[in-house]
This record gives sequence, C-alpha cells and structure tokens, in this order.
Amino acid sequence: MIVISSIIVMAYAGLVMYCARKVSVEQELRAQEKVFEESVHSQKLANKKESLFLEKMRLENETLEIFTLYELTKDITKSLSEQEAFEIFKNTLSRHGTFEECLLVHPLSHEIKDYKKSEDYFVFVLQGEKKKTGYLVIKGLAEANREKFMILGNQFALAFRRVKLYQEIERIAITDSLTEIYTRRYALGRLQEEIRRSKMRGSPLSFLMIDADFFKDFNDTYGHLTGDQILREVGRLIRENIREIDVAGRYGGEEFCVILPDTDREGARFVAERIRQAAEGALVKAYDTQVKVTLSIGVSTYPEDGLHMEELIDKSDWALYRAKKEGRNRVCAFGVYRG
Ligand code: GH3
Ligand code: MG
Ligand code: MG
Repeated sequence: MIVISSIIVMAYAGLVMYCARKVSVEQELRAQEKVFEESVHSQKLANKKESLFLEKMRLENETLEIFTLYELTKDITKSLSEQEAFEIFKNTLSRHGTFEECLLVHPLSHEIKDYKKSEDYFVFVLQGEKKKTGYLVIKGLAEANREKFMILGNQFALAFRRVKLYQEIERIAITDSLTEIYTRRYALGRLQEEIRRSKMRGSPLSFLMIDADFFKDFNDTYGHLTGDQILREVGRLIRENIREIDVAGRYGGEEFCVILPDTDREGARFVAERIRQAAEGALVKAYDTQVKVTLSIGVSTYPEDGLHMEELIDKSDWALYRAKKEGRNRVCAFGVYRG
C-alpha cells in the first residue's frame, strides 16, 4: 500500500515537474520572442533616427544654399559693373567653400583652351541670350563643391547678363543712332565735366564746332537716305582723327562737336586741320554714290575764350561762322580772328 502511494506521489511529482518545466520553457521562448521583437523595434527606431538626421542635414544644406543664393542675388543686383558683380560672386563663394583662385575670363580669350585642358581648373560658361559672354574659371575647387559652384555660377551668369544689358541701354541712350557718336546732350554734359577738371588742374581745353559744307545740296541731289549715309561717314571720319580721351558728339543736323581735353589753341587747330584734311581727301561712299564732303570748323579754347560752357560754344560758333564766311573748307580759331 505504502509502495503504491509512493509511486503515485512520485508520478504526481514528476507530472508537476514536467508541467513546471514546460511552462518555464514556454515563458523563456516568449521572453526570447519579446527580446527579439524589442531589438527589431529599436533597430527600426535607430534607422528612423538616422534617416531623420540625414533629412535634417539635407534641409539644413538646402536652407544654406537658398540663403546663399538669396544673399548673392541681393548683393549682386546692386552692382552695375561686371568687375563689381564678379567680386561679390567671389566673396560669396569663398564664404561657402575653399578654392585657390577664381577668374572672370573674356569670351574671346585664347587662354580658355588651356584652362579647359588642365585638370586643375574647372570652367563654367557664362551664356548670354545668343552667345557666350565669358567664362568663370576656378582652381582648386573640391569635387563636392562643384554643384554649389554651378548653382552660384548660374546666378552670376544672370547678374552678368543684367549688367551687360544695362551697359547696352546706357550706351544706346548716349549714342546718336545715325552717326554712332555721342548725343549732343551727353557731349555737353562731358564738356561741363571737362571744364571743371581743367579748372582744377589749371590745364587748357578746346572745343570744336564742325559743320558740313553745302550739305543741303547732297540731300537735294542724292536724296535724304544718301545724305544720312554721308553724315554717318563724316561721323566715322571725325572719330578716326581724334584721340581716345576726346569726345565727339552730334551737335544737331549736319553739325558735330569735339571736346579736346588738355589741348590749347594751337593743338586744337592742329587736330581740326587734320579732320578737315581727312574729309577733303576722302571719297565718301554712300550706297552707289561717291561724294567729296568738306568741313568748316570753329575752335574755342578754355580759359582764354571763356570760363563757362556757354561761352565756349558761342565762341566756337562765331569762329565757325567766320570759317563759312571766308570760303568754307577751313579752320578758324576764335582768338586768332578776334577784333
Ligand atoms: P553751309 O555750308 O552753309 O553749312 O550749307 P548747308 O547746306 O550745309 O547748310 P544749311 O544749314 O543751309 O543746311 C543744312 C542741311 O543739312 C539741311 C538739312 O536738310 C541737312 N540735314 C540736317 N540734318 C540732316 C540729317 O539728319 N540727315 C540728312 N540727310 N540731312 C540733314
Ligand atoms: Mg549747319
Ligand atoms: Mg552745313
């Protein structure tokens, strides 16, 4: 009886132990599953954290680029000269990356071939509406910064076009459309300026008033279109016979004026005579016509003939009148014929 009871107790204990073991294995498995799930979850969180970090970095970079672009656009818009716009571009670029040198190269420069061949340089083409307006050449730019450079380069190209357009508008505004020399308004503005400069430096200045002789006859004989073409040629002829610092303008109709800084009466008579002779010796081509044009020129000089613009114009007009009266195709200086 005791033996049977012991067997039953032992069997029961075995069963209890077996059940207990099974429960603990299941719990362990569940715990392991939970640990696995947790680790997957935390891995996902880590991945998400990393992608958020990358996204933040990307957004920060984008913001910086937009801000840089905004900054560049804002600064560069104020500039009206190519060189100034380029300096602004270079400064902005240097604040956002390192490079050894950056150059603005003329579109017709021969050196551009060498820059393009060299591995040290990166060349960015500044494209105008129809043709290239120049090149940005950069040395020592990190590969990673190239994209940024190109974005800023595009912005500079826009500013460059705007500056060129502004310069062209300015040139058109001060250029006589027929003769391609300065307008009367611009030339007289320059005369005021040059008188001021002469006063400051104590140097002379001369003013020429030039009138084409018997011009009405050209119009009457060949028509106004041919007359226009002759006037254009006279303008070119005057331009070709003065210095770079002299200013030639169309005073009105068939009358021209020239400002000769740093030139006394004798010097001015010499220049005027050169212009007169050039006209006299030239066969002016106008369409299918070839004509001879002569010029009469009046000269006045600062300070002896006048201290103000109006006086100088008046005196050169007077001298011109004398030149006409004395037979045309000649130069008269005001002082020489006074009295
Ligand atoms: P003078 O030797 O006394 O200066 O004689 P002129 O015929 O040149 O002088 P005038 O003042 O009698 O006539 C000037 C002429 O210049 C008349 C005008 O038709 C012509 N003219 C003025 N402006 C232009 C222009 O823009 N185009 C053309 N084709 N002719 C012009
Ligand atoms: Mg006239
Ligand atoms: Mg005339």
